[in-house]
Order: sequence, then structure tokens, then C-alpha cells
Amino acid sequence: MQKYKSCWLWIILFFSLIFLTFPSHPDSRVEIHSVRYHTHPSYTRVVVDIGKLREYVFSELPSPDRVYVDIYQAKLNPILHGKAFLVENDYLRQIRVAQKTSSTVRVVADLDFKKAYFRVWHLPDPFRIIIDIYPSKLPSIPLPPQPAKSGSSIIRQLGLGIQRIVIDPGHGGKDPGCIGKSGLMEKRIVLDVATCLKKILESKENLEVIMTRESDIFLDPESRTVIANQKQADLFISIHANANRSRKLSGVESFYLNFSQDPSVIEIAARENATSTKNISKMKEIIEKIVQNSKIVESRELAESIQNSLVKSLSQEYSDVRSLGVKGGPFWVLIGGEMPSALVEISHLSHPTEEKRLKSPEYRQRVAQGIYEGLIEYVNSLGKGK
Ligand SMILES: [Zn+2]
Repeated sequence: MQKYKSCWLWIILFFSLIFLTFPSHPDSRVEIHSVRYHTHPSYTRVVVDIGKLREYVFSELPSPDRVYVDIYQAKLNPILHGKAFLVENDYLRQIRVAQKTSSTVRVVADLDFKKAYFRVWHLPDPFRIIIDIYPSKLPSIPLPPQPAKSGSSIIRQLGLGIQRIVIDPGHGGKDPGCIGKSGLMEKRIVLDVATCLKKILESKENLEVIMTRESDIFLDPESRTVIANQKQADLFISIHANANRSRKLSGVESFYLNFSQDPSVIEIAARENATSTKNISKMKEIIEKIVQNSKIVESRELAESIQNSLVKSLSQEYSDVRSLGVKGGPFWVLIGGEMPSALVEISHLSHPTEEKRLKSPEYRQRVAQGIYEGLIEYVNSLGKGK
């Protein structure tokens, strides 16, 4: 027996030497150096930042209950070797990462299948894998409603009203969004409109308003709805400015999350998602699944209300304001929001007249006023039991 053992040792040593002496092809493994997670009452989201497109598989294993994701052609940055992130909530104990083989990285979530269910999906550019873990039993609604911390969600579930709104100025930081001929950047315009909107809402309504960003910082699209979910917002609105290959196209349009076959919608979504139209087609299945669980009817009504009021408000002061309508579209920024969510394209930066208008603070103020009126009309429609 001893003899065999030493024989094996020699074979292993021999192959190790070959491996070390003749390095094979250049290292094609992508290095993973970031695993992020956010926990909040309704779910936990784990994001594995990978950077480059990689194949992956996921499955669940029993005793102890766990979900794993294996990412191929990948290696862990030494900082993450054997790392565990303790979550320790009711349904999820921890998240672990390890180098499973020389080219496979494994991410594990130790959870309790009696109390949790999960969803694994990915986003491109930069490629990242997302593991969403939900407590399977939703917390029961205590009655009568308590105006405490959980007040807003109770009010929302009972359709009694809206307390908290998250406004999301698109893009920011290294992502300027679209840029007009004069150099005017979408990220700056939408931040200004969002700030105006926040001021109007706070001065006229008894509502709490939270912005996903208040300065020129970069935020992933998926972080934006996480912020809204964490804050238990009742409404989410993402503000953008549009661009089109044709400098003749002008107008305002609003979106809610849905899959779309319309090439013009896919083109807008590809630009807003900073990805290719090809990638969006690849995401079809995932988006369709997510849409089934989202507040699609409410989101469409919210988008319609904003669209109508915005067009009406702009038309009072400006000529030739065109409504391009309300459409469903696969926008990453709307994925995962647990509240009615809409994205509004306030005008076209690619259109000479609209670019000129977007440059003026008066126009931006008008845009904010229009969105405000749409939001309030939607809020009031809930009170009437619509
Ligand atoms: Zn945008």
C-alpha cells in the first residue's frame, strides 16, 4: 500500500513539474474581485461583478441547504479566496466564494429552502451575475395599519396612498448618457430636472422624496431599484433624455418594464442600458420572467399619467411638443423594482430645437412641473380606488 502511495506522489510531482515548466496558453481566466450584496426586508440581492461574458451554471444542494453558481474561465482575486459574508437573517445565513477548480469560481448562498426561494440571472456590459433570494413567506400585514416604519408598504398594499417616492436621475459619473451636438450631457440635464422635481414635491406635498443620486456619480442600473426597494418606496421614476439617429425626431415618451419586439423601443433600451440590441434579444427570456412578477398594470398607468401631464404642461409654453406615447420596454433600470415604476424620456438631445430647449433652466423647470402633475394625478387616482 505504502509503495502505491509513493508511486502516486511521484506521478503527481511529475505532472506538476510539466505544468510549471511549460505554461500552457495565456491565462484566459477573468478575475473576479467584487461580490456585493444588499439585504433588506423583502429580499437579498447578491451581485458578482465579472466584467467579461462567462458561462455559468447554477443549482441547489441539500443538507445543508444551499444554492451555488459556478462561473467558468474565472479566478478569484486573492482578496476573496475562501471569503464568507455573514448575512444571518431569517432565510439566508451567509454567502461564500471559493476557487473551486483552477478555472471555476463557485459562489454559494447558504439558505433555508423552507423559508427562501431564489432567482439567478445576469446583466451584460459589464457582465455580472445576480442572485436574488426572497423569503418565501411574505410578512403578514398587521391590521390596523401602524404608521410606524413599515407604514408605507402597508398603505401601498392596501391601496391607501403614496408616502415615499424615489426619483432616479439617469446615468452619472463615467456614464454621461447621450450627448447633444453642443456637448450638453444627458446626465447633467436629468439631475437638474430631478432636483427641481424633488423641490416641487417637497414644497407642495406631504411626501418623502429620495434621489438615487444627488451629484455626478456613477450608479449601476440594478443599484437604482435596490435603493428604491431598500427605502420601501411607493413609486419609482427614472428620468432620461433621448437621442435618435435621425436629428428630425423630436418628442416626449414614457416607458414601463416589459419585453418589446418594436425595433425602435429596443434601440432606445439598448442605449439606455449601455448594451447592444443583440444582448437585449438574448435577455428576452429573463425579462419575460421578471415582467410576470412586476407591477405591470400600475407601472403602465403611472407612465401614462406622467406622459399626459408632461406633454400638456410643455404644450402650454412651447410649440410643436410631440407625444411619442407610452410603451413597454426592456430597461435594466426598471428591473427588480417592487413598486410601480416608470422611465420618462423628457425630450430629444439629438433634435436641434429640443437640445436648445433642454439647455434652458425654464424648460427643465417646466419638465419637472409636468412630471410632478402626472405623479400627483396618479397618486390621487389611487385614493379614488381606481
Ligand atoms: Zn438615459
